[in-house]
Amino acid sequence: MVSKEDIDGELAAYKKNRITIATLCSHSALQIFHGARREGFRTLGICTPERKEAYESFPFAKPDSFLMVDKFADIMDKGIQDKLLENNAIVVPHGSFVEYVGPENLEKKFRVPIFGNRKTLEWERDRAKQRKWLEAAGVKMPHEYASAAEIDRKVFIKFPGAKGGSGYFTVSSPAEFRKRCANRKDAIIQEFVPGVRYYMHFFHSPFSGRTELMGMDRRIETVDESYRGWPDVDEDFIDYTVTGNQPIIIRERLLPEVLRMGKATVEASKKLLPPGMLGPFCLETVYHPKRGFTVFEISARIVAGTNLYPNGSHYSYYVFEEPMSTGRRIAREIKIGLEMGALGKIVY
Ligand code: AMP
Repeated sequence: MVSKEDIDGELAAYKKNRITIATLCSHSALQIFHGARREGFRTLGICTPERKEAYESFPFAKPDSFLMVDKFADIMDKGIQDKLLENNAIVVPHGSFVEYVGPENLEKKFRVPIFGNRKTLEWERDRAKQRKWLEAAGVKMPHEYASAAEIDRKVFIKFPGAKGGSGYFTVSSPAEFRKRCANRKDAIIQEFVPGVRYYMHFFHSPFSGRTELMGMDRRIETVDESYRGWPDVDEDFIDYTVTGNQPIIIRERLLPEVLRMGKATVEASKKLLPPGMLGPFCLETVYHPKRGFTVFEISARIVAGTNLYPNGSHYSYYVFEEPMSTGRRIAREIKIGLEMGALGKIVY
């Protein structure tokens, strides 16, 4: 088990004027490197051979140096971790990092300081914990059915581990469920929530105490195009796998509720997983004028939708009045932590 004391011990040994911001070359790495560079940090990309050329192709977003691995899971190797520590690295976790390393390895084996509260990544991964967290925040979540026998309308079927919408589908009756799922015990049966999807990017700073709205996007899925198949929608259109992102702005009168949900999520996390949510997170919501917002998921780290805004978004500009991507905001927070001699408050 890697304790907070262990991490503080590593941090104490770091040369504070030579901090390096590091991450895996995937997901939102270009944005993270670009933002770190703008804040004056050295950057390091943990990279596999087939990705290196792509990451060298962006002069202002490529990392200053590469740490090559055969596969991302090798980041757990002692040699690689030692190299990161030698570089005074603070690792920024993103979606691929969580995927390849896994919250369990993070908790038990990863000795390198990471930006943010490690516990949030485990709470994101575990659907029961996610629900507990969001319910404690008082936000509305999709109803979950205890058993297939209760299916009385169109419901959404998800399986544990399936991420990014791949393999999701809907059924409308217990019989259809039996046909499609062969009564798999691990199926999650969720109310199908109609409405418009909004993915809200927040950043919480323990230094300012502020929960900032950094941006908003909508994920693009094949199902969004299903109208093209009307009146006989081809089965292949009904695919919820996320393949891209579009910028989105919400009606301004809904902003008070957006900000309220962001703050409530942070407040609930302080009690459930102290010190709570630090840094970037995303609430994945469906809005319907009659039902308001339903939150169907939380990502407790930087999300790929923030890649839309390397120069900041239509919201972050009103918070900073300077180009502020989420990647840069992370680096800015590390800089503030360094200046205050309080890096330990944001690095776990
Ligand atoms: P997720 O993996 O939870 O981000 O979900 C992927 C996609 O599945 C979402 O972007 C939605 O389009 C869809 N989705 C997930 N949960 C629900 C739900 N309860 N009702 C309707 N659509 C959903």
